[in-house]
Amino acid sequence: MSAAAAPPTGRPRHHFSVDVEEFFHGTAFEPHLPRDTWTSWPRRAPGVMDRLLELLDDRGVRATFFIVGWLADLEPAMVKRCGAAGHEIAAHSWDHRLVTAQEPEAFRSSIRRNKALLEDLTGTPVVGFRAPSFSIVPGAEWAFDVLLEEGYRYDASLFPIQGHPTYGYPDAPSGPHHIRRPGGTLVEIPATTLTVAGRRLPASGGAYFRFFPYGYLKSAFRQAETRGEPATFYIHPWELDVAPDVDVPWRTRLRAFHGLDRTWSRVDRLLRDFDFQAVVETVDGMGTADA
Ligand SMILES: [Zn+2]
Repeated sequence: MSAAAAPPTGRPRHHFSVDVEEFFHGTAFEPHLPRDTWTSWPRRAPGVMDRLLELLDDRGVRATFFIVGWLADLEPAMVKRCGAAGHEIAAHSWDHRLVTAQEPEAFRSSIRRNKALLEDLTGTPVVGFRAPSFSIVPGAEWAFDVLLEEGYRYDASLFPIQGHPTYGYPDAPSGPHHIRRPGGTLVEIPATTLTVAGRRLPASGGAYFRFFPYGYLKSAFRQAETRGEPATFYIHPWELDVAPDVDVPWRTRLRAFHGLDRTWSRVDRLLRDFDFQAVVETVDGMGTADA
């Protein structure tokens, strides 16, 4: 892929990230589609990722792909194509279990297996992790220790908001920062928020990108630039696809699949409006401790 020139204004380069998984990995589907039903669904992520690789190449953007191990194991060629296109490959757990639903040793085994497989497929070190559904919340900080022990250099799991029923780390800084633990220092790349009347609202991607006007996300990116911080966008392959024919409650369906018809055009607009780099490039630029 072609490398984009440095932005002329010195503005921060943002992060375009994809949590590479199938729709049935989504936490909202867990009560309806148990893990033993996963293989009965067609896997559509590889086709979507091919289309996305083309768009990213056209726009000269290097992205970060957080890939579920279960999917990488069944679709190794997809992972290889993503890596060969020059993008950063990172981990999204083996089987999309919430961090908060696991004991530390089960979490360790999941992220170890995820990292080893992705490194084997791409021949490149995997240093980044994003928890399924941003599930590192207050009280689950032990996960940072396990990530450090397993050789990860950064985490991208904190959502610095309050009031969400299943995720949120209200006291986290809004931008990239260091987390010091007894075993070392981890870089944290939080999901992006929009501050309105002193309150931080989620504006990083996913459903927030589909439900709210494009300007909502754009404002969050501009606020991050004003603070001199990169913003972090996230999307899933199933948000760049048609809705599957799955029998789930209408609320689950609405939240997962509303606005799919405009996701591609919005993503293209985002790629044109801002400058991006892989998360690991930001991490490399931060050194090992806060200045
Ligand atoms: Zn996920």
